[in-house]
This record gives sequence, structure tokens and C-alpha cells, in this order.
Amino acid sequence: GTPPPTVLHAFRATVRRAPDRCALAYFDGRLTYRQTDELSGALAGRLAASGFRRGDRAAVMLQNTPHFVLAVLAVWKAGGTVVPMNPMFKAGEVRHILDDSGATALICGDRAWADFLREAAAGSAVRTALTACPFGLQTRDDARVLRGERMPPPDGAEDLLTVARSGARPPADPGLGPQDPALISYTSGTTGAPKGAVNTHGNIAHNAERARIGSGLPDGSTYFALAPLFHITGMVAELGSCLVNAGTLALAHRFEAGVVLDAFLEHRPAYTIGPATAFMALMAQPGAGRDHFASFHLVSSGGAPLPPALVERFRTAFGHYLHNGYGLTETTATTASVPPGTEAPVDPASGTLAVGVPGPGTLVRIVDERGAEVPFGGHGEIVVSGPQVVPGYWRRPGATDAALPGGELRTGDIGFMDPDGWLYVVDRKKDMINAAGFKVWPREVEDILYAHPAVREAAVVGVPDDYRGESVRAYVSLRPGTAPQAAELIAHCRERLAAYKAPREVRILADLPKTTSGKILRRELRDDAAGRARQGKTGG
Ligand code: ATP
Repeated sequence: GTPPPTVLHAFRATVRRAPDRCALAYFDGRLTYRQTDELSGALAGRLAASGFRRGDRAAVMLQNTPHFVLAVLAVWKAGGTVVPMNPMFKAGEVRHILDDSGATALICGDRAWADFLREAAAGSAVRTALTACPFGLQTRDDARVLRGERMPPPDGAEDLLTVARSGARPPADPGLGPQDPALISYTSGTTGAPKGAVNTHGNIAHNAERARIGSGLPDGSTYFALAPLFHITGMVAELGSCLVNAGTLALAHRFEAGVVLDAFLEHRPAYTIGPATAFMALMAQPGAGRDHFASFHLVSSGGAPLPPALVERFRTAFGHYLHNGYGLTETTATTASVPPGTEAPVDPASGTLAVGVPGPGTLVRIVDERGAEVPFGGHGEIVVSGPQVVPGYWRRPGATDAALPGGELRTGDIGFMDPDGWLYVVDRKKDMINAAGFKVWPREVEDILYAHPAVREAAVVGVPDDYRGESVRAYVSLRPGTAPQAAELIAHCRERLAAYKAPREVRILADLPKTTSGKILRRELRDDAAGRARQGKTGG
């Protein structure tokens, strides 16, 4: 029950106890714990030789590949802090993060380095660039990279695997502890320039150990990295949990429904976690069925809203109960989750599915505008304190004071708690629609839309309206083989919701805009609704 000081400690313990156990599985490539230790140790040695020291930052911009894991372990072994970057980022976004974090090393895909990263890094603090595996590949061929059959690295960078195989001496153990910064995780920046939340080793180890105990997964289980590892959910609930459980992490480059289903059959994982949109995409895949999920012990949906209708669709399609989980970057992934063996209740009044119960040592309070606690059932802002809450933002004392007064995190989410301790997330405070003075929470309307059999994805936003201030508009995408009219979907909502909550307009799109971590981007739709075009920005 006591978390290790860092997940690196847990990793090292497994290297000693079970060196030949498979740590990483990637298509037909495999690395044992011993190999993973040796390769990451040599990489750490290379970083140290270039002057990389304890507390230095290394940006890692890779898809879900073994290289990502080697890079992270190497940076920690060298005493540094990992700055994960979304491989979809454009030059401007990369440059902001390099400058803000002051990263001195950059580990990225070689095509990205050749195409634009070299320029983006020029003039920044970056001194060491390591490149790995062709950028954008998601085929079995990528496993060849592990076996060393690859192209030479582009100019100005060294090849990660060549360095890892050099057998360079690992640096002395930096002796990291729970207070040391493990990650700087940049938020997607919906409110100003992206800021970096500092997740400590203690934050990660706590949540990884909590997941290990809570899930009941046996030692050595196979975890499948469905959520991207550069996102906090993947980093902690997949990689971190796998390492504290001495497990095997199966990876498949990036989310591609057909590839993922094949990988389930190949690696027979016991656990995975992803956003609801990923599970919807798996369900829409022709031929997807219970066989694909036969090896699973537990399946979790995390980091994004889970409409109750989807839980039932998932159960019908794959024979598993989908466990909800709630968290933020600032809570190092999970804050509340649905314990295995239980099912989350649905609030009868609003139809909202509970996100879970707060984890051990975690205090969740619901407060009003003045900060006073609200009685059970009352709506208010969710505030969290506990061992997974970050100490603050990187070099932003003002933002830290505003979001973390007294060390307690103001999540910006509106929610409520029932007397049994189940937490419900109503919506984000800033997404509330004010329709002629009536509060409309988009999530409630979306949940109703998802209950319509033709709806695949739904997002509800406010549209500026001269008469009402705002009016409710829904954007939906449809399940294959369905073709309802907008009027039918509006009528479906009107039968189930107060008239002011029902959308006045429904727009049917082929697909809804999403972040690479699979969250539906309501803000892009809001901009569309307001007639503004966004300037080439994709969020985390
Ligand atoms: P930003 O905060 O910069 O817009 P982001 O949305 O990617 O970026 P995250 O920290 O990844 O930031 O997301 C956390 C948010 O996701 C929560 O504040 C909450 O609104 C939402 N969320 C996470 N899990 C759930 C869940 N199970 N149910 C409902 N909402 C959830």
C-alpha cells in the first residue's frame, strides 16, 4: 500500500527480481526489464555526458513507442524532468514549450526533426537532440526499428537506439525522491498560453500505486497503452501503473482502431484506459467483438466525460463494464474512480453518471462562489487536495496562487456529491450556457443525445443570440447506417429535457473535432458557432 518514492525505484526492483520478464511489447518487438534498463541507462549516460544534470529538463515528443519509455527512464536516471510534448504540435507550440521549460535536450521522431523541429529548436536552450523511429508510422514495420534495421538519423541529431546500444556507462543514481519534479505537463491552453503543471515523482508514485491496489491486477499483468503516453492519463495510469506492478506495457504507436484491436489479440492485455471517444471508435470498427476484449480484467475510461448510454453500448459490444475515472493534469490523472466490482450510480434527477469515489488520502470538497462548502447534492466547484495534487505550475507563482490556494486545487469543474460519497461532474464552469438567464450544462444535453441510437458523438455549445443572450446548439456525428434528421434529434431532446435545455439547432458533421488525446473540442465548435475561425491550434 505504501507507494515507492518514485516509479523508477519500482522499475529497478523488477530489474533485480525478474530481469527476463518482458517490459515492453511493440508489434513483434520485445524488450525485457534487463534490456530496458541497459538501454535507458546508456541513454542516461549520453545525456549526462552532454552536461545534462539533476533538475534539467528534457522534452520528449514521441508517440506510444518503446523509445518513449526508454527516453523517460533515461531522463529520470539522469536526474532530470521530462517535458512531454504532443507529436502533433506545430513549430510555434513546440517553441513556446521549449522556451518556457528551458529544456536542454529534445527527444523526438526523426521525420519531425528533419521537417521542422530543427528550426523550432534553433536558438532555444536545446543542446542535445536524439531522434527515434520514423514519425507517423504505425505498422508492424516499426518494430524493425527495435531490431536496429533503420535509416541513419537526420543532420544535427543522434539516433536514440544507436546511443542506447552503445553501452555507455549510466550516470550515478541521482537519488530522486518524492518531492523531485518528474514531469512538466503543459495544459492545452484554453485560458491563455499553455502553462506547465509540475507533477512530482511522489504525485505519480501515489497514483500508480493506488491504481495497482485498486485494480486488483496481479503482478506482471499486461497493460495496453491506449491513451497517449504524452498525456498524463497514459503516463501515469498506463506506464506508471505498469511499472509499479512489474507488468508488461504493450504499445501500438498511436490510436488507430483496427491496429489496436489486432494488438489486443496479439498481446492479450489485462488492462487499458482511454477516453470514451477511443472506445466508441473501437465499437464502430467492423468485426470488433467480445473476442478482442476476452483477456481484459478491467477496462477504464478516463480523463473525459463518459455518457451513461455508452457504458451500456460498450457492455453489449464487448461484454465489459466500463469504469469511469475523473482527473486533471493537475491531479496527475486520477482523483476519483469506480472501484472494480462496483458500478457507478446514475443521478436520477440529471441522468449524470458518477465519476467515482475519491481515492485514498484524497479530499474532494464542493464549494460555492465564496468558498463555503455546499451540502450533499448541491452544485459547486470541485476542489481537491491529496498526494496526487501538483505543488504548482512551472515558474508561474501567480497562476499557482490562483489555482492552488493553500495547496488545494480549484478544478474549474462544477459537480456534486451524494451521501454515499460518489462524485458527479456536471460540467466545466466555463462551458455553462446562459440561455435567457437559464443555466444549461452541455453535458446533460449531450448525455440525452447519446441515448439516441443514431448518435455516435455529441457536443453542445452556446451560440450568441440577440434575444436570449445564448441559445443551445448541438453538433453530432452519426453511427454508420443511420440518417436521422436534425428535427428528430431535437424532438428526442424535447421529450426528455426542459424546453430551454433542448437544442434549438442540431448540426450533423462527419466527425467532431478532437484533441489527439481524444477529447471533443467544444471550444472549436463554440468558435464555429460564434463565426470565428481558429488559428491552427490543436489541444492536448
Ligand atoms: P485544459 O484544462 O487546458 O483545457 P485539458 O482539458 O486537456 O486541457 P486535462 O487536465 O487533461 O485538461 O482535463 C481535465 C478535465 O477533463 C477535467 O477538469 C474535467 O473537466 C474533464 N474530465 C476528466 N475526467 C472526466 C470524467 N470522468 N467525467 C467528466 N469530465 C471529466
